[in-house]
Amino acid sequence: MTWSLECTVCRTRYPGLEVRYRCDCGETLDVVHDLEVLRGRLTAEYFDRRLGSYLPEDRSGVWRFRELVLPVAAGEISTRGEGNTPVYASTKVAEYVGAGSVLLKHEGENPTGSFKDRGMTVGITVARKLGIDTVACASTGNTSASMAAYASLAGMRAVVFIPEGKISRGKLAQALAYGARTLQIEGDFDAAMSLVEEVCRRESIYLLNSINPFRIEGQKAIGFELLQDLRWDAPDWIVIPGGNLGNSSAIFKGLDEFMKLGVLPRLPRLAVIQAEGANPLYTAFREGRDLEPVASARTLATAIRIGNPVSWRKSLRGIRSTGGVVEQVSDQEILDAKAIVDRAGVGAEPASCASVAGARKLVASKVIGADDKICCILTGHVLKDPDLTVAYHLGEIDGIRSTYANAPEKCSADLQAVLAALRRP
Ligand SMILES: *Cc1c(COP(=O)(O)O)cnc(C)c1O
Repeated sequence: MTWSLECTVCRTRYPGLEVRYRCDCGETLDVVHDLEVLRGRLTAEYFDRRLGSYLPEDRSGVWRFRELVLPVAAGEISTRGEGNTPVYASTKVAEYVGAGSVLLKHEGENPTGSFKDRGMTVGITVARKLGIDTVACASTGNTSASMAAYASLAGMRAVVFIPEGKISRGKLAQALAYGARTLQIEGDFDAAMSLVEEVCRRESIYLLNSINPFRIEGQKAIGFELLQDLRWDAPDWIVIPGGNLGNSSAIFKGLDEFMKLGVLPRLPRLAVIQAEGANPLYTAFREGRDLEPVASARTLATAIRIGNPVSWRKSLRGIRSTGGVVEQVSDQEILDAKAIVDRAGVGAEPASCASVAGARKLVASKVIGADDKICCILTGHVLKDPDLTVAYHLGEIDGIRSTYANAPEKCSADLQAVLAALRRP
């Protein structure tokens, strides 16, 4: 065995594949790879050689790095060719952030429109190996969209628990369309999360939230692929929105493994950005104490509306060991940053743009240098939350100024009227 599950806190090991999400002590688990076995073999050139391949396991931006994800046979993999997401260098966004160079790694351009696909290809592959026929998750939307798609592809049943009225139409549409059994829980995400964990403990249903350590193994390929995109030259900062904190944990874990293998000369610093109304990690980081859940998390960026994040220990571990930071931003800052990202021709969902809003705030406070090489991760697609985007441009969001509004103009169906409209500045 070249890997085993290990407790994040007490380090108890559980070798072999089994249905397990937590250590017997109750803490989260990490997949720990035997890096000694892999040292020397896994080099930048080794992964680059796969870029020219037509094999599905090489073309996936997750399974291309499979030795560090999960060693499985090619035929066992459920993949949609996830990853391979573009990196945009936008001068408009860089100007807004106040820095010389801002790269946007657009994880919203994954098959179902968010980075969740990277974790899901691994989670579903593991579920298949375990012989499971039903998978479940609690979700603010993107996890359920992704799980529903990958489960259907693999011939499994999917059950999603979503907080009632708190998920965007685009995401709900995906869960329904891909055929998931969809339970609208009369409560928030945190309530849905504790219910689904209990249900999966009792029934033979496999839990695919990011508490599932194999999800993290897929998501860490964001960092691997980013380095490959940048020809193995690390940015100074990776800036990423934080909700349940699986993604920030994952990116750190991957880069740390790359460091230990000698693929990466130095670790980028991680900046995790939370919404002000859902900021338990920000508070824990600032006050140097354990996380205390936020009772009723509030933000218009529904993907990060999470008060009791499951992976906070793993996330903090990564932030601290890279000399990173946690920042918070208001919904006003998130939506203005989104308007800029959208208008730059890139486009992303609201939560994604917390990264850009956070980078701007950290450059202004000189935590991030204006000459540093910054990479913001855009986590979701611009079409995930059309209602909020339209409401912003129409100036219809309570308590939010539509700083960069681009409202549609009414015009009669008449050539002169149209020409007159176009001549107005
Ligand atoms: C899931 C998600 C996040 C939050 O990621 P965590 O791993 O829960 O911290 C941020 N943005 C989008 C679009 C997401 O779907």
